Order: sequence, then structure tokens, then C-alpha cells
Amino acid sequence: MTQIPSSAPNTRDGLVFHWPTVLFIALIHGLALGLAPFFFSWSAVALTLGLHWLFGSIGICLGYHRLLSHRSFRVPQGLEYAIALIGVLAFQGGPIFWVAGHRLHHAYTEDRDRDPYSAQRGFWWSHMLWLFYQRSTFFDPQQYYRYAPDLARDPVYRWFDSYGALLQIPLAGLLYLLGGWPFVVYGMLVRSVLLWHSTWLINSVTHLWGNRPFLCDDNSRNLWWAAILTYGEGWHNNHHAYPQVAPAGWHWWQIDITWWAIRTLQALGLARKVVMPPPERLGHDFRGWDSPLKPLRRLGSILPTYPHSPGGTQGNSHQSSPIGSNADYNADYDKESALP
Ligand SMILES: [Zn+2]
Ligand SMILES: [Zn+2]
Repeated sequence: MTQIPSSAPNTRDGLVFHWPTVLFIALIHGLALGLAPFFFSWSAVALTLGLHWLFGSIGICLGYHRLLSHRSFRVPQGLEYAIALIGVLAFQGGPIFWVAGHRLHHAYTEDRDRDPYSAQRGFWWSHMLWLFYQRSTFFDPQQYYRYAPDLARDPVYRWFDSYGALLQIPLAGLLYLLGGWPFVVYGMLVRSVLLWHSTWLINSVTHLWGNRPFLCDDNSRNLWWAAILTYGEGWHNNHHAYPQVAPAGWHWWQIDITWWAIRTLQALGLARKVVMPPPERLGHDFRGWDSPLKPLRRLGSILPTYPHSPGGTQGNSHQSSPIGSNADYNADYDKESALP
């Protein structure tokens, strides 16, 4: 897409109002809401929840986010492609597009122009309007490829990025064969809408509401109900303080379903170099949340704590630098990124 001059009538701050995206998202919402009552079945609801977990927790949270965006752990290359393919099926854009935008979000958190979903532009902007008013930096492959060079040089990821959306067609066909139109309506339309909003919640509500145990230089928050709806990503203040750490929930009561899957891969010997929270940070910078639990831990360690993973690593290079040094963080994980 070519960026047109900011003086043109359908632009705002150099942003292009992208009618095809708006109409498409509106159409999927309309079809999902309009058809769902007529095709209801409990098996279709169960399918929706199952695919929401598979595509959301495994594909997006574990795959696109913690594995590809942050390299919080490593898996064999074939498994990495398989997990990325599950992310592609979530219908949230290709992996290079998603990862590039997310790395910019961390590098320039809440900057009005350089963070694609800057919370400084308001709730609806960070939730979904950023998809409607598009900036070529974030939406033109020729530009966003620069922010994920590790993926952009791989032909498999380039194919996923260019053509992955087409995989929705055979997926819909498979669901039709398995359960007829109820499976198509719920497994494709209802699932897409619910999963879109789950992911968008992280960009909107967790930069607005919740607690801030870490004093990052942004407004990221820990929000328990968002963490439940997003398989752990709602512990967003933890994540912004230490973006490369694999678990987003750092305490037993911070439910992080995606971390359960990473731990399973680790137990099977498939995940390695799992980046763990720095031990000294688990008790520091928290505003007393942990103090009631410390006597219990001393009594017999009956509460689960994070094991020191064999072959894993702990923390990241923030240990000696101020939390929230986003530019430093970005330089850490990928020195080839050409950030604007
Ligand atoms: Zn954020
Ligand atoms: Zn992140």
C-alpha cells in the first residue's frame, strides 16, 4: 500500500483510512452475530473454545509472541514452523507483520507515532482503530520486514506472511466436513471475532487498568481478568518490565496458561534456553504482594515456585539497567533491526 500525502482527505497524521480492512472486520462481526443464534450447538461452542485456545494460546501467545517476537525460548526449527502455522490460522496477520509491530510496541511503548497501537491515542485506538487508520511503516511489507529481519530472511515465514490468510479456506472446508455449517459459523466466524478481541484487549485494557508492581516508564498493567481471557498475557506490567522472560505470570496466583504449555514443551525436552525471571526481582519492586506468602514458603515450600530450568537462563540484560529501557531491550534481542 502506498502512503498518500497527509493533506489528502482520508488521512490523519499520515495515516490512511483503509476501507477494505474496516469493511472486512465489520462483515465478519456482522455475520458472526447474525448467524450464531441460528447455528447454535454445544459441540460448536466446544469447538470454538478449543480453537480459541489452540490458535490463541499456542499460536499467538506462545508462538507469535513469546517464541518469535521475544525469543523467550527455543524449539527445533520444524516445531517452530508448526507453531507459527497455528498462529497463522488465528487470522491476525502473518508472523512477520505481527512480530514487527509487536517489537515496535516494546521499543517505543506508547509513542503516538512509532508504537503501532499506542495507548496514548486512547482506548479504541489501541484496541482496534490502529488497524483502520494504517501507517505504511506498520502495514507495508517492504517497510515492516526491517523490524523482524530474522523472520524476513526465511522463505517459510515470508510465505506465511504473504499467503497465510488463504489457509482459512481449507480450514473452513475441514470444519464443514467435521460438523457442517454450525462448525463453520462458530469455528470460523465466532472464533475469529472472540480471538481478535482477546488479543486486542492486551493493547487496550492492560495499558489502562490494573496494578503496576513494576515501575516501568510506560502505563502497562497487570489485570487478572485480562490474563484469564488471554492465556496469561494480561500480566502485562511484568511483561513490559522484562519482555524476554518466558512466563508472564511470575507467582503461583498469576495464572498463565500459556506458560503451562511452555513448561510442557520443556518437560518433553522440546523447549530449551527458557528465559526465567531474575530471582532477585521476584521479591523486589513488588509492593508487598508477596510478603504474606513468604512465611508459607519457609514452612515447607508447599506453594509452587519457578524451578530453575535445566539449560535455561534467568532474567535478561535488564538486571543492571533501569527497568523500561526499551531501546536497550530492543538492541539486546536483535541487533539487526532497523528501528525508525
Ligand atoms: Zn504493551
Ligand atoms: Zn511482548
